[in-house]
Amino acid sequence: MSEKTIVIGAKKRIALIAHDNKKDDLLEWAELNKEHLIENRLFATGTTGRLLQENLGLNVTRFKSGPLGGDLQIGALITECEIDFLIFFWDPLESQPHDPDVKALLRLAAVWNIPVACNRASADFMFSSPLMHQEYARVLPDYDDYQNREINL
Ligand code: PGA
Repeated sequence: MSEKTIVIGAKKRIALIAHDNKKDDLLEWAELNKEHLIENRLFATGTTGRLLQENLGLNVTRFKSGPLGGDLQIGALITECEIDFLIFFWDPLESQPHDPDVKALLRLAAVWNIPVACNRASADFMFSSPLMHQEYARVLPDYDDYQNREINL
C-alpha cells in the first residue's frame, strides 16, 4: 500500500478519557500539566470532561459518557482526522460494560497512527516531547487504495 502524510499542527486536538478507577490519576496529571493542556484544544468523554471542567476549569468539548457511546464518538473523530492525540487512562484491573468500544477506540488510534498515552508515565514522556510544540507529519497507509480495491463479484 502506498503512504500519505497528515500534518498534526503545533496546537493539538487532544481527547482525554479515564475509567472510573483512573479518574483521580488523570485529574492529578492534568492539574500538573494544566498550563500545557490549555495551549491545545481539549475533548473528553462525558464524565471525564465534567471533572476536568469542574475541578480545573479547563475548557473541554464533552461527548457522551464512555459507556453511552463517548469512546466511539471520539473514535469517529479520529477517522475524520479531527483528533490528533489520545490520553486514555484505561483500567487494566476491571472489565467495563463497554469493553468492545474501548477496543474499537484503541484499534482506530492504531489504524490512524494517533499517539496514545495509556497511563501517567506514557503521558509524562509524551507531553515532554518537543513534538508537542511542533507540527508533526503523521505517516499513514494511503487508505484510498484500500477503499478503491477491486472486488470480484
Ligand atoms: P466517562 O467515560 O468519562 O464518561 O466516565 C470514560 C469511559 O469509561 O470510557
